[in-house]
Amino acid sequence: MQTLTENRFRYGRGIKLIDDTGTEYIDGVSGTFNLSLGYNHPYVVEKVQEQVGNLTHMSSTFTEPYVDEVLSHLLEYAPNGIDAGWMRDITGSTANECATKIAQKYTGDTDIVSLFYSHHGQTQFATGISGNAFRRKGFPNSSVPNSLHVPAPYCYRCPFDANPSNCGMKCVEALADQLEYGGSGSTACMIIEPILGNGGNIIPPPEYFKGIRQLCDEQNIILIADEVQTGIGRTGYMFASTLFDIKPDIITLAKGLGGIGVPVAAVLMQSRLNVLEKHEHSFTSGSNLISVTAAKSTLEVVSEPGFMEEVQRKGKLLGDLLLDLEEKYSCIGEARGVGLMWGLEIVDEYNAPDTNKMNAIINFAFADQQLILRGSRYGFGNVVKVRPSLTVTDEEIVEIIRRLDLVLSSLD
Ligand code: PMP
Repeated sequence: MQTLTENRFRYGRGIKLIDDTGTEYIDGVSGTFNLSLGYNHPYVVEKVQEQVGNLTHMSSTFTEPYVDEVLSHLLEYAPNGIDAGWMRDITGSTANECATKIAQKYTGDTDIVSLFYSHHGQTQFATGISGNAFRRKGFPNSSVPNSLHVPAPYCYRCPFDANPSNCGMKCVEALADQLEYGGSGSTACMIIEPILGNGGNIIPPPEYFKGIRQLCDEQNIILIADEVQTGIGRTGYMFASTLFDIKPDIITLAKGLGGIGVPVAAVLMQSRLNVLEKHEHSFTSGSNLISVTAAKSTLEVVSEPGFMEEVQRKGKLLGDLLLDLEEKYSCIGEARGVGLMWGLEIVDEYNAPDTNKMNAIINFAFADQQLILRGSRYGFGNVVKVRPSLTVTDEEIVEIIRRLDLVLSSLD
């Protein structure tokens, strides 16, 4: 059986990839969930190629007019009085560091709170503030001393063994306790993914977001929504913060903002939080014109009339078909998602997390059915992710499901 790393892919078109033997694969996860517009989207490719031919990079002193265009476009859609931005990063990891620096500088406080299973990046600091402890192993500087991790609102396996329909939000209570007794008493911010992406496609209930917003207001804590995975239409909305009414103070973006996989990131905030000096957070390639152009043209595409409504409609189609698979196969404990961001929680006959089966599904899909899927590494590591590009067609969604169905039936 061929493994996931043996192929050399030659071409990408839409959600399809062709390897060097001419075999066609369907990418069910849009690269690393970052190809929001699929491989080789013609408009973005054209704009990026044109920019490469004209001017690739200047000192950030001169790129501001380009950056401002992208930021004003993003801010047109931003929720909750978010009206300023910063675009000197090219990765989600450092965008999150930018957000935590802002929170610490603005509040004068130290502690950073995040959820177990969360993933906020892989620089040492971003690893430290993430809730996936195994990533810190062997890297002492990844243990950020003022970082607190609290139980995730994972209703399918409630960490408090409560019934989600009347739990009284024990996870918000646990957060309040942790703030009172667990930290230094000086909390700068809470950083949260609207849907825990790598942690297993965990979608907190709406009351959770209400609860944490209230707590943050009461204690002057800056609420950061890490929308690196959920942003730029993944949930059928430009920002998942709008969909879930999170009301964050800061939003971080990366992945899908680059449309065809061009690295780029942005930090959006309320203008009162625009406190960083340029020398406090910027990188050589942070506002290079290739990245900025990719972001600009991607935003032009996703804000065409009807684009987001189409993502919502296709998301419903994908979700309905995955829920049908949940009915059909007992190894799917739960299919959960919104828009084009879905996960299948794979379980054994006792409903325990079944990581081996999840791995088998991913590998079989790749080897025999030419379907590329990914599994979650954090949490219990037993969630198969399905996240095609936003440009996926109905026929391709049906084809993803047909191939997944074949894999599941062969493993049943
Ligand atoms: N936040 C989230 C939610 C992510 O999923 C990721 C990457 N998987 C990051 C931050 C880090 O982004 P990057 O890999 O671009 O540094």
